[in-house]
Formats: sequence, C-alpha cells, structure tokens
Amino acid sequence: MEKKKDEKELLTIGSGDLYQPYSWSVGHYGSKFLHELKDHKKLLGIRCPKCNKVYVPPRKVCGKCYVAMDEFVELSDEGEIYACTIIQFGFVDPGTGIQRPVPYGYAFIKLDGADTCLSHFVDSTDPEKFKVGARVKAVFEEKRKGSIVDIKHFTLI
Ligand SMILES: [Zn+2]
Repeated sequence: MEKKKDEKELLTIGSGDLYQPYSWSVGHYGSKFLHELKDHKKLLGIRCPKCNKVYVPPRKVCGKCYVAMDEFVELSDEGEIYACTIIQFGFVDPGTGIQRPVPYGYAFIKLDGADTCLSHFVDSTDPEKFKVGARVKAVFEEKRKGSIVDIKHFTLI
C-alpha cells in the first residue's frame, strides 16, 4: 500500500521468541480413535442411538439429541470435500510448531459413512480439481505415533 507524503511508517514492537509446549488428554473416545488410526489405519466414527448421526472423530454425546453414544463404526478412508481453501498466508502449524510452506490445500472432508466432517490437509492447490464435491482418499504416514497427522494428508482420487 502506498503511503501518503506525510504519513509515517507503522511501527511494531517485538516480544521475543516464545516456546510454550503443552499437551492435553483426548479422552477415552479420542484415544480409541487415535489408537485405531495408529495401529490399523482405521478411521472410527460413532453413531447416535437416537438419530443415527455418525460423528467423526468420535465424541461422547450427540450434539443434537444429548444422548450418550457408544456404537463405534469403521469409516471409509475416502470421502468428499465439503468445503476447502488454499492457504496462501503462512502461520505456525500447531501440530509441528513450524511454519508450513505455502500454498497448501485444507479442507473439510465428509468421509463415506460419516455425517460430520474431518478437517485436514489436501495435497492439491489446483482450483480446477481441488473443489467442493471432489473425491479424496487418506494417505497415511509410514511411522504413525497416535496423532491426527498420522494421516499425512488427503489426496484427490
Ligand atoms: Zn442424535
């Protein structure tokens, strides 16, 4: 943006580098989801006994019916892009603590068999192909450690 003749540059004040490691429990259902992902490359959802809605990742209570859920269902590793964007502005990836190189694709993906979306990276930035309704498949890391990034990314199929 061009400055006016008498306009001064905006100043910033740095607060230094910040290192703040932390971890939190993902609970029983989150742990079951991540164990299946790590050990068997399986994606688990959970079905509401009242409305039959399938949530992924699994959660304890249906957000619509407020009833407890305990029926785990295995989902496909394929699905459809529900919403997507191409990230052009780099920011620190909370999963790695480093800035992910831009551009990259990010999407809400509705896995086959699920009624909710999983958000994840997609290895495409081609707006002609990377778009709502496109089919994708999970690509798993070779060495998995019990994290959502055990899914390396989704790829267009
Ligand atoms: Zn329900």
